[in-house]
Amino acid sequence: MLRVSNLKAAYGKIEALHGISFHVEKGEIVTLIGANGAGKSTALKALMRLPPPESPTVTGGDITFNDVSILGMPAHRIVHDLKMTLVPEGRHIFGNLTVMENLQLASWSRKGEDTDKEIQHVFDLFPRLAERAKQRSDTLSGGEQQMLAVGRALMTKCTVLLLDEPSMGLAPLIMYDMFRTLKRLNTEGLTIVVVEQNAHLALKVADRGYVLDTGKIVAEGPAEELLHKPEIKAAYLGG
Ligand code: ATP
Repeated sequence: MLRVSNLKAAYGKIEALHGISFHVEKGEIVTLIGANGAGKSTALKALMRLPPPESPTVTGGDITFNDVSILGMPAHRIVHDLKMTLVPEGRHIFGNLTVMENLQLASWSRKGEDTDKEIQHVFDLFPRLAERAKQRSDTLSGGEQQMLAVGRALMTKCTVLLLDEPSMGLAPLIMYDMFRTLKRLNTEGLTIVVVEQNAHLALKVADRGYVLDTGKIVAEGPAEELLHKPEIKAAYLGG
């Protein structure tokens, strides 16, 4: 479905991805793991075709979606036409708007369509958001804000969900709940690409994984295999 081939990406003159290749099949959960600064977020931003300077310029290679190059496609078309949506690192919800307003705003690209069904789905996945529908988002806890960021992405009716560090700053129980919900969404048919520093958690729910190190892929394989590889355990899973 999604194929990244020998992708090179740079911020100005500094190359952050030195020719990485990975693919995602429909219905999979694929994780990109690696240490700080490995290039995980850069890979997701390149996939979403977000503009520089916050996002990298692609300097080589290709990204295809169902065998068609998407390098020339702007981010809004990636969301609208390809149904691929990013939950960015740090959530970036609209703090001065309520939970409900954030969800409604997220369906801007589906103007005129009935969105009640998706809102109900989000509230079913995250009952806490239903209880806080009228609450200003900047008063939510970190975990609730992450739920809202995922819920907001789902309002686009995406079929591929990219998540950048969804576990960041969350208490362990909330983190496990979040990954359980991602697994549920996957069983409902959503394809998921998740970037995580919590490699153990990500590999536990993923079908396959890629390990990034300073802009290169240094290991890949079924998640279960990566979990048990001694060198991966030593470098990324705390021994
Ligand atoms: P983390 O887990 O810390 O977010 P990461 O694996 O997601 O790490 P990236 O954020 O993709 O790593 O960063 C890869 C490299 O690109 C780093 O060396 C970083 O300093 C650099 N970089 C990231 N964003 C920018 C930017 N907007 N401008 C310049 N350099 C950047």
